Amino acid sequence: MKIKALKGFKDIVPGEVELWQYLEKTARNVFERFHFNEIRMPILEETELFARSIGEATDIVEKEMYTFVDKKITMRPEATASLLRAYIEHGLYVQKPVQRLFTIGPMFRHERPQKGRLRQFHQLDVEVLGSENPLVDAELMAMGALLFGELGINVSLELNSLGCPKCRPGYRAKLIRYIEDRLDSLCSDCKRRTATNPLRVLDCKVPGCREQIVDAPSIQEHLCDECSDHFTTVQSSLGQLGIEFQLNKFMVRGLDYYCRTTFEFITADLGSQAAVAAGGRYDGLIETLGGPKKSPGIGFAMGMERIVLLLQQQEENGVKPAEIDLFVAGLGEKAAQAGYGLTHTLRQKGLAVAMDHEGRSLKSQMKQANKAGARYALILGEDELTKGSGILRNMKDKDVEQQEILLAAGSIAEAIK
Ligand code: ATP
Ligand code: MG
Repeated sequence: MKIKALKGFKDIVPGEVELWQYLEKTARNVFERFHFNEIRMPILEETELFARSIGEATDIVEKEMYTFVDKKITMRPEATASLLRAYIEHGLYVQKPVQRLFTIGPMFRHERPQKGRLRQFHQLDVEVLGSENPLVDAELMAMGALLFGELGINVSLELNSLGCPKCRPGYRAKLIRYIEDRLDSLCSDCKRRTATNPLRVLDCKVPGCREQIVDAPSIQEHLCDECSDHFTTVQSSLGQLGIEFQLNKFMVRGLDYYCRTTFEFITADLGSQAAVAAGGRYDGLIETLGGPKKSPGIGFAMGMERIVLLLQQQEENGVKPAEIDLFVAGLGEKAAQAGYGLTHTLRQKGLAVAMDHEGRSLKSQMKQANKAGARYALILGEDELTKGSGILRNMKDKDVEQQEILLAAGSIAEAIK
């Protein structure tokens, strides 16, 4: 019986992997320009870390986590909690008052696999720790917008504020009153959420629920003075940086730790998997996880599968499979002998070189050279070999005449430079 990959787990094979590499390279380049440093964390963490940060009454913790129940450990469903755990554990706040960190890697959630929704998926995640300044909120969103722009991906930015522990309870109570009047028309999830996490009713995708909440009170009108000032400055700073956005009072995000600014980058080109990046501010979370008191933070995560799908939809994204410099082709034992060592020496000199070891026909070897996108082919013919030379052919420009060349790594490297 053939063994296949698990449902919702996907291989990324050559032909597709180049887009992933392109995405990572472009993102790293942008993150560096914004002065971010990379951090890498393990995939397994104590279950308690996610329960405490993401929140017990969230979809992720309630039903999506891969947990080894007997060992009380969980495969990370998102990056922020692990990143903060590492930040606290290594006292990174001592080294720098404001840390700007990014991480790239797989996350795990047991949900129904669909296009753009997997069980092992990948995120590019960025976090700024130690600053409460609304300029940072806008700067982060501007970084996201810049990255999407450089990838040639069309997105819109949606913005909301979730207030803080001072102003949210008042709003929450008002929202519960609004929801309770309409409880009979809501889906069973929302009926349950009203008690556990009423704000989640606002982003329910069920059409019947959406209809019910169109006129729900807006949190944006219930912010305390500090949150309101913060929100105003975020918006004016986005304006100053030329970043377009829409306010969305229904965007509450699925994680408990958010406060004040929340945002999502949305695409119209992926059906219901519309969010390509999402994040927000979490000013109480570092302290909750045992870090220094009053340490603010903000971050967002970009879903790489969804971005790759969008890149695949582009006609021209300039991503080509990796090419090699030289293909060494020859027939017979003598050619194989000469080519084998030469190939290694050229690789030591920094060139990308391929060679056939299976004794295929010369025609087949030239086909392989073309497929590999080789810039040059070195043909080891019997006549030339006796003279210690070979034929060098330019594979990209057929007008350039092929030339006989000494089989010395130095002269070959020079000729194909
Ligand atoms: P969604 O509403 O699509 O379920 P989410 O709110 O659960 O998203 P976050 O936890 O905010 O997602 O994660 C940030 C980003 O990671 C999302 O905007 C999305 O692009 C991506 N993402 C989340 N879950 C998945 C998944 N199962 N498969 C692929 N990408 C995902
Ligand atoms: Mg989700």
